[in-house]
Amino acid sequence: MDHIIAERLTSIDPATGAEAGSVAVTTPAALDRMVETAAAAFRDSGWKDLLPHKRAEVLRAISDRLEAEKESLARLQMRDNGKPLSECRGMVDYAVGTFRYYASACETLQTEVTTPRGPYVSMTVLEPYGVVAAITPWNSPIMNDATKVAPALAAGNAVLLKPSEDAPLLAPELARIALEAGLPEGLLQVVQGRGAAIGAALVAHPGVAMISFTGGTATGRAIGKVAADRVAPVALELGGKSPHIVCADADLDLAVAAVISGIFGSAGQSCVAGSRVFIEASIYDEVLGRVAERARSIRVAAPDADGVEMGPLASFHHRERVEAFVARARSEGGRVLAGGARPEGAAYEAGAYYLPTVIDGLAPDSLTCQEEAFGPVLVALPFSDEAELIALANGTAFGLACGIWTGDFRKGWRLGRALEAGSVWVNTYKQSVTSTPFGGFKSSGIGREKGLDGLRLYAQVKSLYFGLQTTPFPVSK
Ligand code: NDP
Repeated sequence: MDHIIAERLTSIDPATGAEAGSVAVTTPAALDRMVETAAAAFRDSGWKDLLPHKRAEVLRAISDRLEAEKESLARLQMRDNGKPLSECRGMVDYAVGTFRYYASACETLQTEVTTPRGPYVSMTVLEPYGVVAAITPWNSPIMNDATKVAPALAAGNAVLLKPSEDAPLLAPELARIALEAGLPEGLLQVVQGRGAAIGAALVAHPGVAMISFTGGTATGRAIGKVAADRVAPVALELGGKSPHIVCADADLDLAVAAVISGIFGSAGQSCVAGSRVFIEASIYDEVLGRVAERARSIRVAAPDADGVEMGPLASFHHRERVEAFVARARSEGGRVLAGGARPEGAAYEAGAYYLPTVIDGLAPDSLTCQEEAFGPVLVALPFSDEAELIALANGTAFGLACGIWTGDFRKGWRLGRALEAGSVWVNTYKQSVTSTPFGGFKSSGIGREKGLDGLRLYAQVKSLYFGLQTTPFPVSK
């Protein structure tokens, strides 16, 4: 892309088109040196051999420093990817909480004394992998970076963090803060540049022992193939086309508000965006009318404007992708009930703005209903009964999340169990907390981040036996 010139990568503020900052691109030779440095730090710094409560002290110090720098980090992320300032502040809070959570998890995680079946004591211990590659997308850099870096360090690894070329400014700040907080040098380094070039080189590097990736499904599939060839463990957090279901017995005020925030929060640039709303046929026109009306009233503005509800998209080229997605929806027969265009007016001219968009009238198997827009585009579909709903809602390649609004908790339970999704929200939406596992079914991913699963992800189980026998083994047992 044209924002990489020679060896510098420039981040463009999507609200203004101005430069937000720049970073040095990592060359292949520099990557080799970084892997060597990380391997040496893993081997020699003493980090992996520190008692867990001592590692936890450093993780807590990182969280304290992140908290102290909250405002400047939030503003940097706002310029880097255009999210409203309030959301960026929330994401720094999330990163603070994530380092605190994994500090506590690190010093309290129990392993097992297993049941013996002979004269020995048997147990498990957790060992770090070594050098972990952590690759993150542009939509929520500080949050996604923390979700990988905190548990990977807690487990004793060294981390090479590769942020997206479209939001490269937060990762170096996290690495600086970690160093200042007492993390030994070399344990957290940042690889910068184009994913298809230096990202691919990182994944293929023989010195990288484990790969943790968050991003699109196509990229995840490509990374998974490289990891398979190397027999390297890989965690993939991928895309979604999450169903958001409104049953006729739901509290419709709460449901409509959640449908709106579920898709238009973060301008739809969220892996768990509720991008397909399924509305029970008997209330379809009423609820869809309310959703479209509210979408038209969303305040689209600069990320730091008073009362902003939706900022610009994260980059100008991403807006072009969203525009192409909506153009195709029209060609597939979609009726655009709200948005479907850039907002007009001088305030929007310099930025990558796009209106909250609501579309209906599409076949469930249309590409618009099957593929991720990763933008502020909601498609609406009616359903008549539970069997039809389950078939339609499960009828994509994805399985990341779903929301169900109903006044009948038994129905919530039935649907929640039947829907193919890693996270199910009944009478709530888009809760994704650091203490609860998160990941996808089907093409939405492999592995679980967050919670204790998110710590175990970065460790391998070793079984240890201590023999108690006092007589020599026979040759054959
Ligand atoms: P991409 O898959 O394009 O990129 C994600 C990261 O991978 C970026 O850092 C990118 O670098 C890098 N990358 C690209 N190609 C390669 C490669 N061949 N080898 C190694 N690294 C590579 O996704 P986007 O950045 O466009 O993010 C949007 C996607 O992320 C959506 O599909 C969304 O659903 C998903 N996502 C999933 C989440 C989850 O937890 N499940 C959370 C957030 C987003 P570069 O940008 O420089 O090309």
